[in-house]
Amino acid sequence: MLTHNLGYPRIGAHRELKTACESYWAGHYSGEELAAAGKALRQNHWQIQQQAGMDLVPCNDFSYYDQVLDMTIALGAVPPRFEPLAGAPEMDRYFAMARGYQRDGLDIIALEMTKWFDTNYHYLVPEFQREQSFALNPGKAVEELTEARELGLRPKPVLIGPVSYLLLGKEKESGFHSLQLLDNLLPVYVQLLQELSRAGAEFVQIDEPFLTLDLDQTARTAYLSAFTRIARAVPELKIILTSYFEGLRDNIKLAVNLPVHALHLDLARAPDQLDAVLAAAPRGLSLSLGVVDGRNVWKNDLTASLALIERAVQAVGDERVLVAPSCSLLHVPYDCSLETDAAILPTEIGAWLSFARQKLDEVATLASLAGEGAEAEKNELLAENRATMESRRNSPLIHKAQVKARVRQVAAQDLRRASPFAERHVKQQQRLKLPLFPTTAIGSFPQTDEIRKLRNRLGQGTITAAAYDQAMEREIEQAIRFQEEIGMDVLVHGEFERNDMVQYFGEQLEGCCFTRNGWVQSFGSRCVRPPLLYGDVQRKGPMTVRWSAFAQSLTGKPVKGMLTGPVTILQWSFARDDQPRRETAMQIALAIRDEAGDLEQAGLSVIQIDEPAFREGLPLRRSDRNDYLQWAVDCFRLATSSVGDQTQIHTHMCYSEFNDIMVNIAAMDADVITIETSRSQMELLEAFKNFSYPNDIGPGVYDVHSPRIPSPEEMRDLLERALKYVPKGRLWVNPDCGLKTRGWQETKAALVNMIAAARRLRETRG
Ligand code: GLN
Ligand code: ZN
Repeated sequence: MLTHNLGYPRIGAHRELKTACESYWAGHYSGEELAAAGKALRQNHWQIQQQAGMDLVPCNDFSYYDQVLDMTIALGAVPPRFEPLAGAPEMDRYFAMARGYQRDGLDIIALEMTKWFDTNYHYLVPEFQREQSFALNPGKAVEELTEARELGLRPKPVLIGPVSYLLLGKEKESGFHSLQLLDNLLPVYVQLLQELSRAGAEFVQIDEPFLTLDLDQTARTAYLSAFTRIARAVPELKIILTSYFEGLRDNIKLAVNLPVHALHLDLARAPDQLDAVLAAAPRGLSLSLGVVDGRNVWKNDLTASLALIERAVQAVGDERVLVAPSCSLLHVPYDCSLETDAAILPTEIGAWLSFARQKLDEVATLASLAGEGAEAEKNELLAENRATMESRRNSPLIHKAQVKARVRQVAAQDLRRASPFAERHVKQQQRLKLPLFPTTAIGSFPQTDEIRKLRNRLGQGTITAAAYDQAMEREIEQAIRFQEEIGMDVLVHGEFERNDMVQYFGEQLEGCCFTRNGWVQSFGSRCVRPPLLYGDVQRKGPMTVRWSAFAQSLTGKPVKGMLTGPVTILQWSFARDDQPRRETAMQIALAIRDEAGDLEQAGLSVIQIDEPAFREGLPLRRSDRNDYLQWAVDCFRLATSSVGDQTQIHTHMCYSEFNDIMVNIAAMDADVITIETSRSQMELLEAFKNFSYPNDIGPGVYDVHSPRIPSPEEMRDLLERALKYVPKGRLWVNPDCGLKTRGWQETKAALVNMIAAARRLRETRG
């Protein structure tokens, strides 16, 4: 029985790759220095994996920025706009594709970035023309293979499969589908495999995550023809075809009949698929069992995993079974043994964790448990693991009877505001007396270096909490005065006191803890440290009231209280795996509900509950979506419906595709939604043609991701366009998203223009 890993995190346990890349971008590192940093990381990670007992160690899973971009380079699918950089160092063209290029009189925009399936990793979207051609550029893949072989390893190159690669891309011209490029792509793809074979590859891992999604006939045919041609061209290669993030379901028959050496299954996400796969698998097909969860941070239940492995061994024999994590370990942090600060991560919880480094041990342990060997030792290992599982299951840290009871008692009326929107609207208008086309911001104002420094100093204890609080109050006061001056209608306090919109709340919730080094790559050099939701969640006390009440005390204008919604908190954390996600989301929703109640009590007349990750939680398979949407909407309603009719609830969403879930967004029944439109201006309005959003809406009038200052005319133009679909009494005026990444100068100029646009609109349309 072989063990293997599908991919290892590459950013470095101490984010060494981030440092190296950013130094290179800043001109402090030469290309050689960057390459040396990359090589050192690869070697270190290979050695770790080999020492942990992986028989096959992945290579070409390393990337300076993104593995999909690497494939685009390997297959020669560089979009034509990067041609002026053909003579530049290869590294520079590579990073230009990732980050754009504004130099030497050139202004080339980067490839679009989007989420990798249902993870928080973002990849760079390949772009295809109708007559797209491909050309082999095997350098990186072959070099990394050679590098690993020279270290005496048994490396297994990792490639994104041809069908998934095409499906991940975007057609840049109309009238064709990316899969029609398969015939152009395959000869090059096959050449790449031949090069790897020539360089000594024995196994190649081909990732085809689309195999777990809903596939139409075209995609099925594409799979069959692609893998048939690959098998014919490189019969000597043992192809491990991987599926992950979901079960294969109705694609089992297709997948098991593709002519490959082994098929990898995600048994962490979908353990139930094993029996159906075993029943369908033809003789000769090996199975790679992804029993160790590559998407979460909890210790493996060895007994349960072993049962799966033994079932497979019984059915196909141990020489046809491989043991592995469920997917690449890219999505989990490095090493929980680095977490030694019990103040933020209690030792008891630390004992329940398994990060990438530990997951390798789990894979090796499982393979040895399933193999021949001393029974007594095995039983001891299993007993020890069972004891850990048991202690977690029963820990008083996790279980809060009153939280569970409260969730059980949630009734239909807890999910409903007292009156329908039309009645609320009248009462809110009486209270708030807002003009037509009211103006507001999304929440955050610039997080200046000064503010960040203050927070660091607070963390290091070099300033007192009182001094920090005072500094925050000064920032808030300035923000309030500024908004009053420019004539904003609904004010925000600016979120200066928040490190991050999820972490800020997580730190104040029971059942949630943090890591010091639990970095996970989000995109490029950007990493996040997701909170760990380990137990029943409840508030320790009011979380935001102090700041919002202070802001409101400074002004006669309404100030918006700012909360992060339950789905977003869940989605951007590692969630517990001992209860359904909906349960955890309900608990968070109750905590947010309490906070909203307290804000209302404190005199806030407007409360915004952000749900930017609402769409991200959508399951990969269409048939699972209604269930998710139902509970996600319920959670928002639970969080928001305790307040009186006269309290106005806002929500905010951004950077997702919303058109197909407009009905569900409407069902959230927020009084006002502010929503990003810059990336999909026409498309969002398009959705209103078919479905008229029933409550108030503020389609963002300017992109917060650019320092560009849009003119009043430009914004008014957008508002005029919105007025074709939104009745004038229901249209709000606001930016696309929060302004924390912007500077004050451009923020001020843009907001002044935005308010001018609203005023002019009032004159012409009032
Ligand atoms: N209120 C948050 C802010 O303004 C919203 C951020 C987001 O949508 N991601 O920063
Ligand atoms: Zn946003």
